[in-house]
Amino acid sequence: MSQRRALVTGGAGFLGSHLCDALLAEGYQVVAAVNLLTGSLENVAHLRNDARFEFAERDICEPAEWGALDYVFHFASPASPVDYVKYGIETLRVGSTGTFAALETARRCGAKFMMASTSECYGDPLVHPQPESYWGNVNPIGPRSVYDEAKRFSEAVTAAYRRHHRVNTRIVRIFNTYGPRMQLRDGRVIPNFMWQALRGEDLTVYGDGSQTRSFCYVSDEIDGIVRLAKSDEHDPVNVGNPEEFTVLECARKVIAVTGSRSKIKFEALPQDDPKQRKPDITKARRLLGWEPKVDLDNGLRLSLEYFRKAALAGSAA
Ligand code: UDP
Repeated sequence: MSQRRALVTGGAGFLGSHLCDALLAEGYQVVAAVNLLTGSLENVAHLRNDARFEFAERDICEPAEWGALDYVFHFASPASPVDYVKYGIETLRVGSTGTFAALETARRCGAKFMMASTSECYGDPLVHPQPESYWGNVNPIGPRSVYDEAKRFSEAVTAAYRRHHRVNTRIVRIFNTYGPRMQLRDGRVIPNFMWQALRGEDLTVYGDGSQTRSFCYVSDEIDGIVRLAKSDEHDPVNVGNPEEFTVLECARKVIAVTGSRSKIKFEALPQDDPKQRKPDITKARRLLGWEPKVDLDNGLRLSLEYFRKAALAGSAA
């Protein structure tokens, strides 16, 4: 039997690179397509000598010939609020033209397709926790709209390709995920707090810190994604950890795990920052038999060494 081959757009990103590892472990040959806007070659450096791994640095919005493929995973996009506000046009482009291009590739190859969607589809949610059936509360022109609407549009294109071209599609709605290979300076809450705690700086809690998030450790997230990829579910599925914390609780946990003497300071809350977020994972549990295993304390402990090294390298730079 010939070896199965998968394309991962954004394959040098945080989640994309972990997905490449998981697919190689599943026996796939993997092509990582990247433009390194927010990803990093370091994330796939350990795969350099693996003959089953290819790396293609190119603009995935341009049509391209990738050879035979069994699966296309469309994971390319800036994903932290700081990054997508900075790269607004690129974010809209990869979530529109890029999604069309990735779907066209899947259609031509007769490959299965998975799109990395997001809890941002729910915006600042008025339903809590968020089930897949909730349509969301998104400001279409606010600073976060470049990401939220690009991902909502990507879901629409994916659903349309399934309806009109019979592409075999999956949509995963990814909630806040953290762990090794996150860019230390991408502005997200856990890397920011880790960086600040490890340097003895005050942790910057935005607003009064009462807004909530539910944090999923990366190994759990990737496990859920791989299970969905193997399933026959075509409608969106939430994959995230339903344990909910306020941002202030999260800051205190980071201080405890790092053993830091840092204090907490309060700064302005960014516009349209969702007040609450927690996935309803009833569907993932039922369809995929999936359940996150790593709680926030353990996940922070597991991430500590990576963040410590990254902070040291960052301080030296
Ligand atoms: N946040 C914070 N301090 C920081 C970075 C983020 O208080 O240094 C808050 C942010 O306002 C939001 C939450 O932490 O309420 C999660 O932010 P993140 O950028 O990680 O992702 P989001 O869930 O907003 O996409």
